[in-house]
Amino acid sequence: MPLPPALVRRRCFRSGGVARTSELAASGIDRSSLARAVADGEIVRLREGVYAVPDLPVPVQTAIRHGGALGCLSRVHAAGLWVLEPPETVHVSMPRTGRRRRHEGCRCVTHWSRAPATEPRASLEEALLQLHGCRGSEEFFVALESAMRKRFLTKPRVAALRARLPAKHRWLVDFARWNADSGLESLLRLRLRSLGLELRSQVRVPGVGRVDFVLGDRVILEADGKANHVDAPDSPSSASKRHKDLVRDAAAAALGFETLRFDYALIVHDWPTVEAAILALVAGGRHLDARVAR
Ligand SMILES: [Zn+2]
Ligand SMILES: [Zn+2]
Repeated sequence: MPLPPALVRRRCFRSGGVARTSELAASGIDRSSLARAVADGEIVRLREGVYAVPDLPVPVQTAIRHGGALGCLSRVHAAGLWVLEPPETVHVSMPRTGRRRRHEGCRCVTHWSRAPATEPRASLEEALLQLHGCRGSEEFFVALESAMRKRFLTKPRVAALRARLPAKHRWLVDFARWNADSGLESLLRLRLRSLGLELRSQVRVPGVGRVDFVLGDRVILEADGKANHVDAPDSPSSASKRHKDLVRDAAAAALGFETLRFDYALIVHDWPTVEAAILALVAGGRHLDARVAR
């Protein structure tokens, strides 16, 4: 007599939403109970011997159908970490001993990994290492700072991650901070470092408030808006934000600061414009205060 499909679903849910036939069998669920639960839509069969609750996120289902676990950019994005572009396809972490499976609509990116795919999602360290190899240092760095900001990683886990990076890229971890406020800021700090410019971040300027960055003595850089900041230009919140920014800029100007504001589109899609603006200020020495003795 097959067990009630809803019970099978609950067992599957209790093992994290994904369960192997062997685990389910250990809790008394036989093949006929599984078949009935699948027929009733209470669980889905992802691949031979692996079942899941139907509301398991689709990218995780896809990764398991592919034969592995959610990895790389897909894992980082699913964790809510900052990414330059959301994944267009599923990045899968595959154990070296595993086998890539054919499945419907497969456009997956496969990352072979030392880690076994015993969990539906790769560890965050594994995913970040894959991201570094897949998308490069910038994507890695912004996701790393985001993970540190959210305290998804501890100091020992960051140290372990650093040790697994190729030696020439370990400086990225040393340069990362625990308090970056947004991915845009992370990207800006990283790119300016490559120009030999150091920024002080999250600086409190008396009479102005906390600004994103100060370059030299007297240039304020503000990275406006997050990727999801899509207020219509004439909406009240956008107008009041603009007014507040203007008040801040005027207060800063009265103290001898120049403010440069950049937004998401400029920093991510038109970096040469941002770089030219900053380099012109620096070349003219306008970031330095003549009154400060050097
Ligand atoms: Zn696939
Ligand atoms: Zn990838």
